Amino acid sequence: MIWGGTKLADFGYVLPSDRTGECWGISAHEKGDCTVRGGRFDGQKLSELWKTRPELFGNPGADEDFPLLIKIIDAQDDLSIQVHPDDAYAAEHENGACGKTECWYVLDAAEGATIVIGHNAKTPEELRSMIAGGRFRELIREIPVKAGDFFQIEPGTVHAIKKGTLLLETQESSDVTYRLYDYDRLQNGVKRPLHIARSLDVIRVPFEEKPIEPTVRNFPEAVLTRYVDCRFYTVYKLDVDGTAEIPLSGMFHTMSVIEGEGFLDGNRIAKGDHMILAAGYGEMHVTGRFAAIVTRV
Ligand code: ZN
Repeated sequence: MIWGGTKLADFGYVLPSDRTGECWGISAHEKGDCTVRGGRFDGQKLSELWKTRPELFGNPGADEDFPLLIKIIDAQDDLSIQVHPDDAYAAEHENGACGKTECWYVLDAAEGATIVIGHNAKTPEELRSMIAGGRFRELIREIPVKAGDFFQIEPGTVHAIKKGTLLLETQESSDVTYRLYDYDRLQNGVKRPLHIARSLDVIRVPFEEKPIEPTVRNFPEAVLTRYVDCRFYTVYKLDVDGTAEIPLSGMFHTMSVIEGEGFLDGNRIAKGDHMILAAGYGEMHVTGRFAAIVTRV
């Protein structure tokens, strides 16, 4: 990625270049289908397991695709400013694709780093005229960002990760993105295409900030913080310092270790590991000193 860096090496990954932007940690998307490491399903693609062993995932409908895509993103430069459609718009205009709701847990941010969430236009007319006049710097809503911040990005929200931010993203398994502004940058001598008409179709006006209200559940030696609970996913952060038994319910869970190391039911886990806890797992027994992002659908 033109905006990528080398921080993903801190998670134990071998990087293909010093401009590596994303690790797709848990994905069954056709553009990056993960391979299971270890255990009885070693070597199998997640998409294949999803189709052949539905009971592991709580028996989803036969026509459903694996619903989540979990990424770690290292931005050493500004990403383009984007907006995603909702499911209805994507189904109609993008060959039946899913829309995209996504959320970000900020792992690290450089001093003075910012992030783009929302815009400053009051009406659709104002949005149109600001875009037509190229007044993007005035249009975008840029706010400070620090480690531990959490953002939910609903479809229709203008957003961008900026230079110096490392984060974990949980999203619907979709690739549909409309690029609104790219800072007039050149890639191989040309500007990357913008999608102004589609962006204007889907941007919600005015932008309304919905504050994140985390709820905390304390265990003797662990804390489980729920950041968001929406139609597509529920996202928690699990902090363990010692030993804990965490009850799981519903369909499958994903877990991505973002700091430290420990054991999950006897299996060693460490920063950079991603795993799926099958439906019916029951209670997970964790020990060690680590933090993880846990998601369920
Ligand atoms: Zn996005």
